[in-house]
Amino acid sequence: MTLVSDTKSIDAAANKPAATAPAGVTGVLTIDLDAIVANWRKLNSQAIPADCAAVVKADAYGCGITQVSRALAKAGCRTFFVATLDEARAVREVTPTSAIYVLDGFFPGSGDLYAKFDCRPVIGDATELAEWDAFRTTSGWEGPAAIHIDTGMNRLGFRIADAQALEPRIKNGNHGFSLVMSHLVSAEVLGDPINGRQVAAFREIASLFSGVPASLANSSGIFLGSQFHFDLVRPGAALYGVNPTPEADTPMLPVVDLRVRVAQTRAIEKGETVGYGATWTARHPTRLAIVTAGYADGYFRAAGGIDNVRSAEVMVAGQRCPIAGRISMDLMAIDVTDVPPGAIRRGGMVTLIGEGITVDELAHHFGTIGYEVLTSLGKRYARVYKGGD
Ligand SMILES: *Cc1c(COP(=O)(O)O)cnc(C)c1O
Repeated sequence: MTLVSDTKSIDAAANKPAATAPAGVTGVLTIDLDAIVANWRKLNSQAIPADCAAVVKADAYGCGITQVSRALAKAGCRTFFVATLDEARAVREVTPTSAIYVLDGFFPGSGDLYAKFDCRPVIGDATELAEWDAFRTTSGWEGPAAIHIDTGMNRLGFRIADAQALEPRIKNGNHGFSLVMSHLVSAEVLGDPINGRQVAAFREIASLFSGVPASLANSSGIFLGSQFHFDLVRPGAALYGVNPTPEADTPMLPVVDLRVRVAQTRAIEKGETVGYGATWTARHPTRLAIVTAGYADGYFRAAGGIDNVRSAEVMVAGQRCPIAGRISMDLMAIDVTDVPPGAIRRGGMVTLIGEGITVDELAHHFGTIGYEVLTSLGKRYARVYKGGD
């Protein structure tokens, strides 16, 4: 992500929240690399003696794959998971020696890039494995692959019986596998019986892959107990501050802070409506702040203000304020009646994420999960990175 040149002044003051935004952007998105590193260290110690990888697919869940991978590699992370080969290239540029696994796997014609970026496909069926083997034979590339076994997702991965058929190859040695893995269906639901069924199925199949490191747990899986850890855990969301234990308070530090500009303040009379569709009516004389972010910036339209429905909230001068009316593409209105008039002015900033407003809280109002809040973060913000060195 390129920064417009006048974000430099913010960068210098990155330890303080943005008090202003560069002229060309809708707001300032600050990503705290130190918090991401602290979250990784916490998950890493929780998983001991297993190793802790980092999942940095989808631009590190919207936080910036280059900056995040560089900071985590520096902190000692040695294994990265991405979805695509383009993402693998970005990680390889900042860490020459780490293992990089590509979750989308191998497809014909992709072999040269696997060799070029020295990364490893996560292979999910016998045909794909045969194609990978053929590539290795013809090219002479000797890099390993991961074997993905499906224990319930029915997304990618060998069916159990097909994975059992690999046993002779394992016994022969020189099999070319550096990891055997599976993925949990319902890890964030502590009491879901499918967790126990998956861990039992995976333990059994992984035991056939003797000498091959095994991996099952995503972020939430780490908190299901040490029997889920195996040799390597694969957190993504928790690194970026999403709560991996939704039934309890979050053990993770918040990572993202998002501030946008007040474009105008205005006073309206009792009975006037705000925004498209007139879904929100002032019940008393009301003051509004119109701020420069909307659904095109990843602030979902579902979170807007409708009469008698609780909207998402925004921090204005240290106070929680509701949204008034529908969220537009580039703008939204905030009811700032309870904020002292002198505390808010045109050109000032309000906080959409941060100061206690979490991505999980927003996800609730958006009708989704924290993952989608992060991967939807808009492209029109100036991005500022804090720490990481
Ligand atoms: C995305 C992904 C992860 C990371 O999951 P989180 O819930 O974000 O921790 C781990 N493993 C696989 C296979 C994935 O696709």
